[in-house]
Amino acid sequence: MASYLDNDIKYLAGVGEARARLLAAEAGIRTLGDLIYYFPFRWIDRTKLWRIADIGEDFGETYVQIRARVRGKQFIGTGRGQRLSVMVGDGSGSAELVWFRGVKWIEKRLEPGREYVFFGRPHFFRGEFGMVHPEVENPEAAAGRPTGALQAVYSTTEKLTNANLGTRGIAGLVAAAWPMVEGSIGETLPEGVIEAQGLVGLREALFNIHFPQSPSALKAAEYRLKFEELFGIQLDILSKRSRRLTREEGFVFPRVGDYFNTFWSEKLPFPLTGAQKKVIKEIRADTVSGRQMNRLLQGDVGSGKTLVALVAMLLAADNGFQSCMMAPTEILARQHFASVSRMTEGLGLRVAILTGASKAAERREALEGIASGEVDILIGTHALIEDKVRFANLGLVVIDEQHRFGVEQRARLWTKNERPPHVLVMTATPIPRTLAMTLYGDLEVSVIDELPPGRQPIQTFHKTDADRLAVWGFLRREIAKGRQVYVVYPLIKGSEKMDYKDLYDGYESITRDFPRPGYQVIAVHGKMKAEDKQTAMREFKEGLAQIMVATSVIEVGVDVPNATVMVIESAERFGLSQLHQLRGRVGRGGSQSYCVLVSGEKLSREARQRLAAMVETNDGFELAELDMKLRGSGDLAGTQQSGLAFDLRIADLGRDQQIIELTRRVAGEILDRDPLLADPDNILLRALRERFTPRTPKDFSMIS
Ligand code: ADP
Ligand code: MG
Repeated sequence: MASYLDNDIKYLAGVGEARARLLAAEAGIRTLGDLIYYFPFRWIDRTKLWRIADIGEDFGETYVQIRARVRGKQFIGTGRGQRLSVMVGDGSGSAELVWFRGVKWIEKRLEPGREYVFFGRPHFFRGEFGMVHPEVENPEAAAGRPTGALQAVYSTTEKLTNANLGTRGIAGLVAAAWPMVEGSIGETLPEGVIEAQGLVGLREALFNIHFPQSPSALKAAEYRLKFEELFGIQLDILSKRSRRLTREEGFVFPRVGDYFNTFWSEKLPFPLTGAQKKVIKEIRADTVSGRQMNRLLQGDVGSGKTLVALVAMLLAADNGFQSCMMAPTEILARQHFASVSRMTEGLGLRVAILTGASKAAERREALEGIASGEVDILIGTHALIEDKVRFANLGLVVIDEQHRFGVEQRARLWTKNERPPHVLVMTATPIPRTLAMTLYGDLEVSVIDELPPGRQPIQTFHKTDADRLAVWGFLRREIAKGRQVYVVYPLIKGSEKMDYKDLYDGYESITRDFPRPGYQVIAVHGKMKAEDKQTAMREFKEGLAQIMVATSVIEVGVDVPNATVMVIESAERFGLSQLHQLRGRVGRGGSQSYCVLVSGEKLSREARQRLAAMVETNDGFELAELDMKLRGSGDLAGTQQSGLAFDLRIADLGRDQQIIELTRRVAGEILDRDPLLADPDNILLRALRERFTPRTPKDFSMIS
């Protein structure tokens, strides 16, 4: 049955063709239903009136509303720079209100001696409260609002605002659409769930999200809509998971053979940590179960994930299967290739490499070797997923530092086989538990929560540009002990030119302060050719230079145990997870290592918190949790591309962790009783799951 919700937005009064096109392009709104699901992101209380005297510089609210009398007004300046300054007072104090635009009109409207209601963002100038461009209302109009009612604020864009579709314009459309669609809004959750969870009905929730009648009504509406969203996601994820676990289609690796045994008894360079052993056991259990392994291995930088991957690949080889290992960068792929080749020397395994920079001979050798089955282990970058790459019998895929790969890229690797290979995804970006539950709900999670013995915790300091001399002095002392140091500059997409300038300036000043022949400085950055980068890295590793100046390209995968100091310049411009990754580049040998965060003097509160957290703790999980709290999940490294194939409209993976856990439990209980949701009572849940099932190719599950 057609519903008003499906009606084209262009027929709504006040829209029309042109604005309809804008709404679609700028906000994805095509139908009345889209408009109703375009939720506000904030609500403001327009019934509260503040006393001017109570609005001090520590005022916590984003908006303020006052009722005050016009005491005087004057134009300041002339021509385009002219502004209107109006002094108002409410008996408790006075404030200056300023307009830069429409000044003539405002000046005429505001009569001296009369009272108005002013609403806007508070501003403080030399400690004095004022407002710029406040909204003006007559007190009678303002008094007409129901007490406790809140006003919705919608996100908008410049183009929409120019077409009179700022937050007020959008609110007007929603108000016009509501009476038309109200009757078409059916319930989407079964009565049982609504009752058990104490939720409000969908229609009530949608009404109150746009027109909250009270703060508590708004809260109930938000909760209901978040619940629905997260519940739908969990139904999808848990259904996939149970399907994967009931299908018997995984390759079985029953043998522990010569490759593994010889490596274990003769090649293993050090005893494994307890955590490494535990994870190897988990992988072993997966690969004999008959089900396909789909495991996420989380381990902090330096925790020894590569070795675990190697052991898994040896098990595959012992059972006649090929493996491949995909790394996010050329440098890292080469490094893995070198260390895997070294550690498997003499075992009779064939290891090959394939990257975008592979020369013809290397490429041919790899492609032919894997197609014929002669190559046992293939290591490379995303060149591995090119169509030309054909495996004879791929049994295991290892993906290192997975957050760098897009969902589609992963899906392509997995479809190289008729039967899905086992998959081990490794990441050093710790993902908080609830986020992992949602992004990787279909993956088993292993954690290496122990560093190899003998590592001393890295000491971290926060310094400002003013401390530079002291920082350089510290570097000189470390270098005098025979150690090496990194100095890293930010490289942020979109402002690359400026960033390279930072790097070049930094390089110049460092070579001036650390001159030859006493000091050798090497620079590495993203614009260099892969070969040159490798050469520079190798020279640094061999100790030919004491200082490496770099952009954040070294973030992933440099392993130089003799490097003991990481200096991060403009540290306030890095996110927490990136800072932590960079810090993990030192502290890889037995010596005490240091991380020095250098920032400007003036910092935002958030930047200050980030840097303080870095100084405080070395625990990547703790930092990841904090990161999520500070920023919400939206900006978390890699979340955009790591699996969530749709936008959350109202829930936030960072802030709504409790609801995530709750919905996972509720969804799990229902699916336990009715795995296919075939029960007529669950018909609404099937539709809900369907709504939250990502469409290929964005689908990140390999079995859908
Ligand atoms: P990551 O988990 O960051 O990928 P790597 O696998 O690169 O860590 O290991 C970091 C360093 O620790 C490497 O030099 C590796 O050889 C070393 N290492 C790994 N496991 C152990 C262990 N059990 N004992 C001592 N050193 C280890
Ligand atoms: Mg690694």
